[in-house]
This record gives sequence, C-alpha cells and structure tokens, in this order.
Amino acid sequence: MGDTASASVPGGRCQVLVIGGGPAGSTIAARLAQKGREVVLLEKARHPRFHIGESLLPMNLPLFAELGVADAIAQIGIPKYGAEFTIPEAPDAPRTYYFERALNPDTPSAAYEVRRSEFDHLLLENSRRLGVHVLEETHVIDVRLADPARGGTQQVTARTADGETLAFEADFVVDASGRDTFLARRLELKERNAEHNSAAIFGHFDAVPRRPGRDAGNISIYWFRHGWIWMIPLRDGAMSVGAVCFPEYLKTRNCPPEDFLWQTLELCPPAFARMQGARLASPVNATGNFSYRASTAHGPGYLLVGDAFAFVDPVFSSGVYIAMSGAFRGADAVDRCLDDPARAPRYLRAFERDVRRGVRRFSWLIYRFNSPVMRRLFMAPSNALRMEQGVISLLAGDVYRTTRAQWSMLAFQAAYYAHVALTLPASIRFWLRRRRNARVRFTGGTTPEDEA
Ligand SMILES: Cc1cc2nc3c(=O)[nH]c(=O)nc-3n(C[C@H](O)[C@H](O)[C@H](O)COP(=O)(O)OP(=O)(O)OC[C@H]3O[C@@H](n4cnc5c(N)ncnc54)[C@H](O)[C@@H]3O)c2cc1C
Repeated sequence: MGDTASASVPGGRCQVLVIGGGPAGSTIAARLAQKGREVVLLEKARHPRFHIGESLLPMNLPLFAELGVADAIAQIGIPKYGAEFTIPEAPDAPRTYYFERALNPDTPSAAYEVRRSEFDHLLLENSRRLGVHVLEETHVIDVRLADPARGGTQQVTARTADGETLAFEADFVVDASGRDTFLARRLELKERNAEHNSAAIFGHFDAVPRRPGRDAGNISIYWFRHGWIWMIPLRDGAMSVGAVCFPEYLKTRNCPPEDFLWQTLELCPPAFARMQGARLASPVNATGNFSYRASTAHGPGYLLVGDAFAFVDPVFSSGVYIAMSGAFRGADAVDRCLDDPARAPRYLRAFERDVRRGVRRFSWLIYRFNSPVMRRLFMAPSNALRMEQGVISLLAGDVYRTTRAQWSMLAFQAAYYAHVALTLPASIRFWLRRRRNARVRFTGGTTPEDEA
C-alpha cells in the first residue's frame, strides 16, 4: 500500500480498492496483483465464515489454475462429475447429466463441491499471498466517486471492528460486496428481476446417504410442486440440503425455519425418503429476493462484479463461476483503464457486455426451469442436433464463448417452444404463476441481506 492518507485517520492510497472478499473480490484482487497493481481489499467479516453456494462448475477449474490454487481446491473439495435430476412422477428414475459429454473437448469433466467457509478463506489468503493488502473486519461505509469532469481519486471510508475509521484513496474502486450490493444501492442502480423471483431455505445435515462410487459427489436436484430441492455432498460427510421455492410458498412459513425445512422436504417424497435418518447439523436459514441486477456494471472509476452486479437463481450452480469469471474480465478491464484512462469507457463497456452475456445465457433456462415442459425435456432429453450436449455445456459453465454449443442450445430452445405450443394450458398456468411470484416481496428471511 502507498502512503498513509493522514496521520489521524489511518488508511492509504492505492491503485485499486476492492470492497468484499468473497470469490469475486478475492479473484479480481489476486488477478490485479498478478498484473503488478497495488490493491487493497476490505472485507467486513473475518474468514473463515459461513456462506451458501457450495456447488461449483467445471469451467471454474481453468480459473483455479490461473490463480495457482488448483491443488489446494482439490484438497478441500470432492469431485462432482455430474448433476442428477428427479421428478416426483418418476422417483426411482433419476437422470444424470455428466460433464464429460459437454460439446467442447476442452471443457473439464468434473467440478467440485466445497464448504464455502474453506473455499472463500483459501481464495482470500491466496490474494494476500500474491501481494494484495487485505483488511478483514473492515466494513466499507462510504464511497465518494470523483467527478468525472474533474478527474481525481475515489474516496473510500471504512470502519474496523474496534470502531476505528479508515480513509482510502484509490484510482479505481471495485464493488464485490455480494448481495449487500453496496454501490448499486448507493447509486440507485439496483433493479429487481421483473421476470423471475425465488426464495430459499437451507441447512447442513449428517447421515444423508450419497450416491455410490464416482457419483458420490454429484449434486442431486428434485423438482416438487413449489420449486426444487438440492442435495450437495460435502467432503467431511455433511450434506447441504435446501429448497428453492416460489416466494408465495415460503411466505406461508409460520413455524421455526428447521420445522419448515422438514415440512418442505416431506412434500417431495424422493428427497424425503433419502433424508430418513438424517440429523440437522447447522442452523437453518431462509433467504429471498435474490433475483436482481444493477442497471449498469460500471461507471467512471468503478465497476461491479459478482453478486454486487447481478444474481438470478442458484439452480445451475452458476453464482461462483459468474463471480470469478467476471472478476477475471474485470481485472483485465481495470488494468487497461489504469494504463490508458482515455480509453476506459471502451474497456469497461466490453467488460459489461461479456458479463451480461454469461448471465443472459443462464437466465433463459433458469426462468423456465420449473415449467412442466422443461421438466419433460430434462427427463427425456433428445440429442438430435446435439441438444442434450448443448445443455450439458451450459451446465458446465461454457457460456461466454460462441461455439457449436450455442447452436445446440438454440435447437433446444426451439424444441422447448414447440412443446409449449402443444401443452398450452399447462404452460400458461406456469407462466402466470411465474409472473405473479416475480412481484412477491419475500419477508421471512433470516439473513441480513433480506432486510436490505
Ligand atoms: C440459496 C442460494 C444457493 C446458492 N447456491 C450456489 C451454488 O450451489 N453454487 C454457486 O456457484 N453459487 C450458488 N449461489 C450463489 C453464490 O452464493 C454467489 O453467487 C457467490 O457467493 C457470489 O460471490 P461474490 O464474491 O460476488 O459475493 P459473496 O460471496 O457474497 O461475497 C461478498 C463479500 O463482501 C463482503 N461485504 C459485503 N459488504 C461489504 C462492505 N460494505 N464492506 C466490506 N465487505 C463487505 C461480505 O462479507 C462477503 O464476504 C447460491 C445463492 C443462494 C442465495
């Protein structure tokens, strides 16, 4: 870090200040440090700390290699070779999509399931190892952006756990504050997703049976009438179990979250059958209103990355990958902006275009995931025009490149709309439910972000 800003108010001057030390913040900070930039990262919590979002995608793996953490992640994760789906109508006939069938041969054939406390801690420590100046238990409370007409630095104020106020000056500010969406709120950029809304309830359990052999690390997804349930096996024997539901259903909760989670599991017989003998091993949390985006991901002297910019839904385990891949792209953009400020708008626009493309490609499938047609297509996939493999490529996280996987996805979309035409009444009922729920404001959360 550079000079201290003032003797009475410690802090400092740096090239880039990153708000938040989750996967997005640690990754962009690490990448910028790898490029020789002077970076300060401020994180309000102390790692390791709990976070939801434990299932990763194969396309994360090349990013781990670039950050130099591939071996360390392999130590804390268990391999996930595929994603298994079950519908209530066929409880004994789950269907597993294996990543090794992805269309592009360079797609890794496995991902990992991780405890986020360990994963996020590892990434944060790695950024420190690469030279990032990391301050934990340091909460950013104010950002004053420079007037673009006059130029100058961005002023950031933070408060430590001891109540000390720190003042920083940076050429560039990155907001990676996750669902706190620090800058998007301050600048009034945050918009609810008008097309999609969901809420979730989740906890960790012991003694939930795993799939045999190589499938032991696969994620399981069970559809039921209010949404879908996940089971994510963790390395130490625990199983992360959660339900992502239409918010109107979660709003009916009138009992402690633990009881409500059990009641919800009971509504899904194949998932409930697997939970016989399971013991709750953590607090149960409920959270909602997580489908949003900011109207822009950048402005003069700042950008938003990861959940600080947008989040849609956890169904395809895309959150961490979008956060980290956005961070890689963001680091390239910031580095170029610092070298060539006159061209900064162009670099930042290119960053935003890329990030939006990734989010958009996941969103189409996410919005329709609970529809009867999508269930049918997922459970009896056709590989005509390599549609099934196109879906697998998307499930693996191959969303930024334009390859033949995108053509296969277009064929899949056409097949979807043809089926919708054949099942119009049920499809309209689903569409009306989705639209109604997009307007529901969830109020039963147990996490601080829900209040915001
Ligand atoms: C129910 C649910 C299930 C999910 N499951 C998955 C999954 O299986 N797989 C997956 O990939 N994704 C999943 N996600 C999404 C995933 O959790 C997020 O997309 C991911 O954590 C985003 O990373 P991030 O770094 O942007 O934000 P975060 O991981 O939230 O990190 C933000 C950090 O910023 C810090 N911070 C916030 N405000 C400030 C401040 N003012 N000052 C300093 N620090 C601050 C926070 O303490 C936090 O450490 C799930 C999400 C939900 C809601």
